[in-house]
Order: sequence, then C-alpha cells, then structure tokens
Amino acid sequence: MAITDFFDRGHSINKQATAFVLDEQHWSFDDAYGISCQVAQALAGLGLPKETRAAVLSANHPESWMCVLGLWRAGLAWVPLNPRSSLQDHQQLLQGFDVEVLFFQDVFSPLVAQLQAHCPQLQHLICLDGAVDGAVSLPAWIADQPRTPPAVTVDPEDLAAVMPTGGTTGIPKGVMLSHRNLGVSIAFSIMNNQYEAQEPIVNLAAAPMTHTAGFLSLPASARGGTVVVLAKPDPAVLLETIERHKVTEFFLPPTVIYRLLEIPNIRERDFSSLRYFMYGAAPMSVEKLKQALSVFGPVMLQGYGQTEAPGAIASLRPGDHFVNGEVASDERLRACGRPSVLNALAILDDEGRPLEQGQSGQICVRGDIVMKGYYNKPEVTAETIIDGWLHTGDVGHLDAEGFLHITDRKRDVIISGGFNVYPSEVEQVLWTHPAVLDCAVIGVPDDNWGEAVKAVIELKPGGAVSAEELIALCKAELGSVKAPKTVDFIDLLPRSAVGKVLKKEIREAYWRTAERR
Ligand code: AMP
Repeated sequence: MAITDFFDRGHSINKQATAFVLDEQHWSFDDAYGISCQVAQALAGLGLPKETRAAVLSANHPESWMCVLGLWRAGLAWVPLNPRSSLQDHQQLLQGFDVEVLFFQDVFSPLVAQLQAHCPQLQHLICLDGAVDGAVSLPAWIADQPRTPPAVTVDPEDLAAVMPTGGTTGIPKGVMLSHRNLGVSIAFSIMNNQYEAQEPIVNLAAAPMTHTAGFLSLPASARGGTVVVLAKPDPAVLLETIERHKVTEFFLPPTVIYRLLEIPNIRERDFSSLRYFMYGAAPMSVEKLKQALSVFGPVMLQGYGQTEAPGAIASLRPGDHFVNGEVASDERLRACGRPSVLNALAILDDEGRPLEQGQSGQICVRGDIVMKGYYNKPEVTAETIIDGWLHTGDVGHLDAEGFLHITDRKRDVIISGGFNVYPSEVEQVLWTHPAVLDCAVIGVPDDNWGEAVKAVIELKPGGAVSAEELIALCKAELGSVKAPKTVDFIDLLPRSAVGKVLKKEIREAYWRTAERR
C-alpha cells in the first residue's frame, strides 16, 4: 500500500472527472495522474535513494499536490514547508532533515536563493512556474517524461513524510510518517464520510497542505471527488466557494469558523450542499460550536489527532452533537469524541499504568497510526513511544459513555490560530531586553485564537519597559503570529527548587480564572 493508491482509486473511477479546481483552472484525474507520474519519472532519473527528503515550499496549489504525489511515486519522503515561516525556520528544517530536493513557487525565489547559499546539501531545485536562476523549470523538466509511474516499489513501512512539529526547545522535530501511517489516517476519514453513494463529492481544501489536515483532500480523491483548492482560507471567499461549487465536505480549524460566524447574514447563505464539515486541531469554544451547528446543520464532525498520530485519534461524529434532535449538553460538546476503532487508546499515569474511566492521565495511542519516530532523534522517540504507546502529551479522561475529553496539555507548545508557537523562542527574544530579568511565555484561553500568546515578565530591580515595547520587539524579531498578544508583569515568577520557572503553575492561574471553552 502506498498513499498514491488513494488518488489512483479515484483515477480508476473516472479518468475524465475533475480532480482539482483552482480559480478558473481545472485538472482532470488523468491530467493530475499524468503530471504526477512525469514528476516521479524525472525524480527517478536523478537516481536518489528511496526515502530521500524532498521539500515543497508553496501555498495550497493543485500542482504542488501533484509534485507530492510524484515524489511519493518515486519513493521519496515529503517535507512540507510553511510559506509563512522565516528564512531561519526553513534553514533549520532543510538542514535538520537533510533535504536534498526542493520544489518551490516562483514567488519564493528570493528566499530560495538565500536558502541555497546556506544549505549545501540542497542538490536539486525545481521551480513550479518556470525557469529561475539556479533552478530547473518544472514544465521543461517533465515535458518529455512518460505519463506512467516509474518502476519503484513502495512498501507500507517506507517513509512518506517528515512533518515538522514543535517541541519546547523551539527547534522543530521531524515526525516520520510511513505510507501505512498516512493510509490508516485516510482510511479513518473515509470511514467517517458515509455519503459515498451521493455523488458528486466536492471537497474544499482550505486547510494548509503543510498540516496533516491538508491530507483530508485524499479521502475525497479516493472516492472520485473533486478537490477545490483555496490558496488561503479567507472567510468571504470560502463562503462564496461553498455556494458556487456546491461543496459537500471540508475541514476548518476553530479560528476560521469563528471568523465565518462573524460574517453578516451568514444564516441566509446556502449550505444545503454540505454533508460533512470536519473541525479540530485545537479546542473549540462550546458557545461558538452551538452557533456553528445552528448555521451549518447536523454535519459537523470533530477530529482529535496530532502530527505524531495523524488524522483522528478520536472523533465526535455528527450524531454525537445531538440528543433526540436537540443540541447535546455542553459537557458532551466539550468532548473530542470516541476513540477510533483503528487504534488502541489508553489513559496512563506517569508510571505508565492504565487509569480507570473518569480518571485523568496522559492520552496514549497504539497501532498503525503511530509515527515511526522523530527524524534523527532516537532518544526523544524513546521517551515518546514507550512499549508501543505514543504519549500524546495531552491530558484527559474517558467519560462514562466512552467519550474522550482533553483537559490539558503536558507540553508547553501554544496553538494560536492553528499555528504552533514555541514559548522558548519568544522567551529568547524577551530576554534580550535590558529591563527583563526573567519571563515565561504561555498560552491563555482566547475566543478568537483558541489560545493567545501571553508573556509574564519579571523585571530587573529598577528596570522599566512597557508591554507595548515588548510586543513590538517580538513582532520585529518573530512576526505577529509568535509575538505575545498581551504582557503581564509579576514581582516574582514561581520557580522549582532548582530554579526552573514553573510554567504549569503560571498557566493554571490564568486558565482557572477564564472559562476554558
Ligand atoms: P499538531 O501536531 O500540530 O497537529 O497538534 C496536535 C495537538 O493539537 C494535540 O496534541 C492537541 O493538543 C491539539 N488538538 C488537536 N485536535 C484537537 C481537538 N479536537 N481538541 C482539542 N485539542 C486538539
């Protein structure tokens, strides 16, 4: 089994059906199949060993997907690069994951020129839109290649992707996912989509292809559906696209849903085509979930997963949101769903012992969905996967009806508006200010962002600096996504006996005083 099998299943249903749409451009299954095979043939011609890392730096675009399908057919492993990341972030990933091939859109040429200077292992640069200095042009490169797959055998255990994910250190780890891991995740999503008979299937790909949610277009392709690609999830364009293309399914994170709900006259828009609306990747406000259910209807499904176990570890199915036709209790809506039947789930205590229903501990999963490990980090892998159990870093419990609740996160990573913010990276910048003695950066509940970045500052004796100055400093160094939204000052940060700042304690004070959802 290889991930491309899912796309090829759709191709075998109807080769002339539309596989991808972007603005006014259409690609049939045959077009996409042919281009991905040509990319694979050209890559195979480079003679790279299997599992060589190939990165793609692009906004959501059908041709970028075709390159990913192509590199999979050639037996290579995909490294997604977030177009919004900085030069330094890209450099860390390209070097850290030993990336040798880079596909990129023309708009990123200046960035790629800098990366080329810093990453000597980058051997092959392919520009998607045409020739640029130092890179080959994709159209010219594949023009004479056959539109059939190369003779490469891809095994289920082969590496399909190295997905960057955060750690508390700020240096991203590479989650190694096999074809089997991703296949299980896509299979689970297909199981959740129970309207295969009701053609046509139109999937709106609004989630960034760099996140595991980006894979959610493949279940639609496997069923012969059309994937309408949005370069970015602008709420107004999103609504217009749903109506125009009669979209039947899509995924959105809570932040985008909140923005959609703010659009005037949203209730008068036409969502009659929608059969399946998946949300997740971060906690969702219960109040806003109820609003969304009243606007979009009984089609919403929550997925809980993580890069290390992509797709859904648990899902709150459309019917779970209702009891006897009425919206279910807040308690039920706070759950992230019932565990998937495709993997085992346990709540373990700090010693790895299973806890009873209702008791809170670390959420752990085991099975084919669990990553192969972290790239080049065997010690971190060994701390994360113990006796086959992936320790998600999320704390939660199972209720009496078997629904899983996430109550806390063990790790400090902040998920703000769907982006991971690594506190230590922000702290590094704050520490550079002469008035700052020490600081802790945490996530606090926020209706719009899910979590907002907050800096808690202990000033040096006699030191003076305003919150605005510190926010501006972080914005200048890290950009607005990572910069704190608010700054509080504190006389003395709580510390452990050896002097480590006790972030959990600080965080708890804020989460106690605010309604979590
Ligand atoms: P990532 O690896 O970036 O996808 O982040 C995964 C983390 O996001 C999980 O470990 C959870 O902490 C959080 N997360 C994902 N889905 C949900 C959900 N449905 N509800 C609450 N938190 C979630």
